[in-house]
Amino acid sequence: MKIDISKELKQLGISEVNNGVCTGIEWKTTSGAAVESFSPSDGELIASVNQATATDYHEVVKKAKDAFRVWRMVPAPKRGEIVRQIGLELRKFKEPLGKLVSYEMGKIYQEGLGEVQEMIDICDFAVGQSRQLYGFTMHSEREKHRMYDQYHPLGIVGVVSAFNFPVAVWAWNAMIALVAGDVVIWKPSSKVFLCAIAVHNIVAKVLKENDVPEGVLSLVAAGSRELGDEFFSDKNIPLVSFTGSTKIGKKVGGLVGQRLGKTILELGGNNAIIITPEADIEMALRAVVFGAVGTCGQRCTSTRRIIVHDSVYEDFKNRLITIYGQLPIGHALDEKTLVGPLVDRWAVDTYLAAIEKVKAQGGKLLIGGEVLTGEGYESGCFVTPAIAEVENHYEIVQDETFAPLLYMIRYSEFDEAIRLHNDVPQGLSSAIFSTHLLETEKFLSHEGSDCGIANVNIGTSGAEIGGAFGGEKETGGGRESGSDAWKAYMRRQTNTINYSTELPLAQGIEFNV
Ligand code: NAD
Repeated sequence: MKIDISKELKQLGISEVNNGVCTGIEWKTTSGAAVESFSPSDGELIASVNQATATDYHEVVKKAKDAFRVWRMVPAPKRGEIVRQIGLELRKFKEPLGKLVSYEMGKIYQEGLGEVQEMIDICDFAVGQSRQLYGFTMHSEREKHRMYDQYHPLGIVGVVSAFNFPVAVWAWNAMIALVAGDVVIWKPSSKVFLCAIAVHNIVAKVLKENDVPEGVLSLVAAGSRELGDEFFSDKNIPLVSFTGSTKIGKKVGGLVGQRLGKTILELGGNNAIIITPEADIEMALRAVVFGAVGTCGQRCTSTRRIIVHDSVYEDFKNRLITIYGQLPIGHALDEKTLVGPLVDRWAVDTYLAAIEKVKAQGGKLLIGGEVLTGEGYESGCFVTPAIAEVENHYEIVQDETFAPLLYMIRYSEFDEAIRLHNDVPQGLSSAIFSTHLLETEKFLSHEGSDCGIANVNIGTSGAEIGGAFGGEKETGGGRESGSDAWKAYMRRQTNTINYSTELPLAQGIEFNV
């Protein structure tokens, strides 16, 4: 199936060959190796990008440092006004950008639109936040003394994003960083460079109209071979927000940690839903299917495991298998499609290898696990989503397979369900389907889910931007987006002011000279 998106590419300013370096308004001609971007839906070449080199990167850092000195002194609500305008501009480009996200990454169009909507939502959130960057005031133990804490801009925030959210992850970070008074350098995933270029074209207009200095929002499109360790080891970047796999996240954490820089690490998940005898089974079924096959199983919050009570297990399994047998799989931009392609053939190989491991470790494949061939599937990136019966302790089950592979696990006692639920290295998202108050409250209690996100009668994926997003354990511990996640993007300072004519020391210490 061929779907022409040339009109949208033009609207988004994507040419056949694009430069991968931007400092906000200006695009720099680069000499780095070209990367071609193909659509996983039809295998067609979309366009290519000349990558940034290390020299380009150093120039960008210099501009970003200069820009920070100016930007940090712009009042926060005025910075918020720029973000408000970015939100308005994104609204105008929601359809073409959503289409490009879908075409380049492979998520279905509805999810592409949803991703752009997340960008818009975080803009709105950040505008409000720009008037709420507040700290506490404390009572001093000393007479005529006043104490408070305040938050200052931090500097350059380095944002490294995963392929599966080509635009939203940047916005979650960048819009909050902007109102916080920081400047941003974005290193996107080389699998989806074009989405990043389109975003920078959209924001450039707003930056230009408002005379925002070059270097406030920068893009460095470079693969890890061109620019990897150097970016993470760079002392010019006080905060690195990294979204990606646990394997690379550990490396990033080490490199930034060695120089005692700050990190926000948003890494892999192994998300489970507990389905109890008290669950609304219809709702649970819908949530599991969306969670497991949405974005072709390539969300950090995708449902990977379901832990189902004995009494409803067989019925749930049979109904799931029936639904899986009827899933429309195809081109991500075809309105009928619910399951698009995996991002590339490498992801397909990883998926197939995982299926083999499931079988070798004792699991039973119930459905799926095949590569689709023939008309409409020529790109080689389409697979049938799989369900397997397994035990939680299998090595492969303990790992995140970034594909539509759902594990079914049985339980008989509720405490056992919680134990199985938590017995994985990751701790991102979790859910329970139950209408029983004692079960749902226990799941949310100290002895319940150990994840950063815990939901009741909602699946594991599809978080709203208003909450702080992130996870525990090997998910990295980072939080971004809503709630008070903005604090990570700022430098905290405690201030004590003496308005007396004495100099009393704290703790009553006498020191008379
Ligand atoms: P990845 O770890 O392969 O890549 C992430 C980013 O790091 C990309 O921009 C990539 O170009 C860069 N990168 C890769 N190798 C590098 C290296 N050696 N040095 C420097 N940079 C390097 O992850 P991915 O395949 O793009 O994304 C999928 C993973 O991301 C999954 O594990 C998923 O769970 C996770 N993810 C987590 C969240 C979250 O918020 N917790 C959100 C989205 C994705």
